Amino acid sequence: MAGTPNLLVFREDLRLADNPALDAAINDGRPLICIFVYDRVSHAPWNAGGARQWWLHHSLIALSGDIEKAGGRLYVFQGQQNEIVADLVNRYQINRVFWNRRYAPYQIDEDKHLKNQLNDAGVHVTTCNGRLLFEPWTFKTGSGGPYRVFTPFWKALRSRGKVRPILPTATNFSPNVEGLKADCIENLGLLPQGYNWAKNFPTNWTPGEKGAKVRLRQFLDAAVLNYKDGRNRPDKTGTSGLSPHLQHGEISPVQIWHAVADRVAAGDIPDHQAETFLSEIAWREFSYVLLYDNPNMIDQEIRHQFKKFPWNYDEGHFEAWKNGRTGYPIVDAGMRQLWQTGWMHNRVRMIVASFLVKHLLIDWRQGMSWFWDTLVDADIAANTASWQWVAGCGADAAPYFRIFNPMTQGQKFDPNGDYIRKFVPELSGLPLKYLNTPWEAPSNVLDNCGLSLPRDYPLPIVDHKFARKRALESYAQIKS
Ligand SMILES: Cc1cc2nc3c(=O)[nH]c(=O)nc-3n(C[C@H](O)[C@H](O)[C@H](O)COP(=O)(O)OP(=O)(O)OC[C@H]3O[C@@H](n4cnc5c(N)ncnc54)[C@H](O)[C@@H]3O)c2cc1C
Repeated sequence: MAGTPNLLVFREDLRLADNPALDAAINDGRPLICIFVYDRVSHAPWNAGGARQWWLHHSLIALSGDIEKAGGRLYVFQGQQNEIVADLVNRYQINRVFWNRRYAPYQIDEDKHLKNQLNDAGVHVTTCNGRLLFEPWTFKTGSGGPYRVFTPFWKALRSRGKVRPILPTATNFSPNVEGLKADCIENLGLLPQGYNWAKNFPTNWTPGEKGAKVRLRQFLDAAVLNYKDGRNRPDKTGTSGLSPHLQHGEISPVQIWHAVADRVAAGDIPDHQAETFLSEIAWREFSYVLLYDNPNMIDQEIRHQFKKFPWNYDEGHFEAWKNGRTGYPIVDAGMRQLWQTGWMHNRVRMIVASFLVKHLLIDWRQGMSWFWDTLVDADIAANTASWQWVAGCGADAAPYFRIFNPMTQGQKFDPNGDYIRKFVPELSGLPLKYLNTPWEAPSNVLDNCGLSLPRDYPLPIVDHKFARKRALESYAQIKS
């Protein structure tokens, strides 16, 4: 390798297109060492959960293959990012290091520390925004305070003018670095050990930059045309399924934004459908703004009065919820979709989360941790903001007293029962009338479909009316 090389650290930006740090590093003209560091300990309890590890494994293989095709190599390491970077900088007399920024408080601390350490050693560090449309600290209300409500935030984002242009795909990588030994992706141990709970994931997902592009194109060709209504229907493909790709940075919100704008300009997508979809992308941005302004929200309520909420942990109830055996079919369908695919429809995420914190009075942090471990799209900002939103303790949160009725939610958003039948197959023979309330089915109806309760499917673990009343009473305690 001729000349002193530059160093690029891939993290949550596993793509070659529209990657600002990579673009800057390549344009700098020196040979480039590209690395990824897998750290399995430093950020406990926020290390990647099981489902995201599965995704990361495949995403790294895809990225590494793409870099090799473009003449380079991805060097993968295990350990602490800051130690590994410092070591490489010393060994190869590196003068310039590049990365895209991350936004969780513990990541900001780690990266600040590394930047100071490198700067002190005379190394120039270039950091870029490769994850968001706009930096979270650039949003302030008219009075200079932080945003807490989505609608004014969305208006502010919309009135910003143009999103930056898409950057070109990196094509020219440097060949192998002599003597540099790294790990192979298989050695990171990211795939399930023992029982393969991820066996159905590959039929649902194609991790990697190409998979993300295909997903976006399919969405823009079809589901976006009816997104406003379709996004609420878990029984249909009404949303983009882009969340795990966004989480791993295989596609950027900038690419999505421009792809939508181009289709609108061409007259392919009606304005109002595009607007609704872009507002969801803005919810993601809003979550990051909330996180930046409230770094403690990863495990503490934004609304302080909820610190005194009388949560009531019950191991049996929590296990029933995790395993999709609560006796409420729409809740169980959602929790089983999560097991089977590593993803859950947004409407159902709201229903199951509400059920956990309001019907069962289990602390939102327990639910959030389970999602963190099981979602392929687990995202520190969206996950914590959404759980706090549902629990009523976040910014711009759903009012606590609005308690979802799992039966009517199921009837409304899965009107033909297809979603429940798919994920709770033991109920598939039940007539639609009883699909959300199997315990109300007369014995002859149950007999006709060969179903016996609770032998084949559990009775509700908690009575809806009782749970509703108890939740409201618990809320009254902290309100006063
Ligand atoms: C309790 C709970 C936990 C959640 N945890 C996560 C999480 O860990 N990671 C995550 O990406 N989303 C999370 N969400 C938000 C939302 O459910 C998912 O983003 C969405 O279901 C992803 O599917 P999609 O890509 O098909 O969405 P689409 O409807 O196609 O939306 C496009 C993109 O917009 C963003 N988006 C959509 N809705 C939201 C939202 N409410 N908040 C923030 N961003 C949003 C996502 O990046 C999504 O990929 C959570 C929601 C709830 C209620």
